[in-house]
Amino acid sequence: MSAYKKPVSRKCAYCGKQFLATHSNKSYCTPCAHFNRRLDCTQLSPRARKSIRRYVRKFGFTCDYSGVSLDLKDFTSPWHFNFSCPDKGNPNNMVLAAALFTVMKRDLTKPEFRYYVLQVHDNRTKHTKIKKRPIIHWNRLGVGGCCICGQPKLSTQALYCPTCSHTAHRMKLLRLPEKTKQAIWDYIRKYGYVCYYTGMPLELKNSHDPWYLVFDHYNPRDPSKVVITSYLVNEMKNDLTENEFWYYIAQLADHFRKGTPVEKIKLKFWARHYVPS
Ligand SMILES: [Zn+2]
Ligand SMILES: [Zn+2]
Repeated sequence: MSAYKKPVSRKCAYCGKQFLATHSNKSYCTPCAHFNRRLDCTQLSPRARKSIRRYVRKFGFTCDYSGVSLDLKDFTSPWHFNFSCPDKGNPNNMVLAAALFTVMKRDLTKPEFRYYVLQVHDNRTKHTKIKKRPIIHWNRLGVGGCCICGQPKLSTQALYCPTCSHTAHRMKLLRLPEKTKQAIWDYIRKYGYVCYYTGMPLELKNSHDPWYLVFDHYNPRDPSKVVITSYLVNEMKNDLTENEFWYYIAQLADHFRKGTPVEKIKLKFWARHYVPS
């Protein structure tokens, strides 16, 4: 008997669309389940997260400031969702907003934003003077970027930009030891998202790309040192240590260029069985 359960049609608790539920996504459709995981990886307080969930149930994936529909996938898009505070004085009350308008609004409250957009528009079209009104949370020193790479963040409460938050999520799934994770962050802070072995810039979005960032056990199966490299180099290195890898790359290069024979050395961690194909 197989454990396969027939998927049942269910209503998504977020967007209300009907979807086929399997064991892995019980109450949300796939895009909403993905969004929910992203939300869980933020540094936002449980109350702030709750307020975002409430917002999505009520208004769907729309921008609170402009009503535009939000992009859930492409975090380079100006229409990608941001977690935004309509009033920084009340950080537990959050909404979704387009990246573009979150940047435009910055520290303003929602009414202040509306007020100044209209003032600026009137100034442009009717040549009226802009009437100043106090801005209660104006604090240019408090904003700042991602604690790893300095790129803009989704909200002032967030520690990371979307890229680093995605990386943090992947590390969490791998259950890497805290010290190992810190070492990876130190590396990224210093060199950026480049391959440890080759210095090549890594692809961060497309997991099918040969240059996609993967986490590589520096010594096979030892979680105490993990480095970032490309999918391709990781596949080539597989069960080799770094020294063994470079040794065989050099041996192969000489073989290809000069026809010299490849000299075998004993491998430290190789534990594969021959599988006839
Ligand atoms: Zn949904
Ligand atoms: Zn970052």
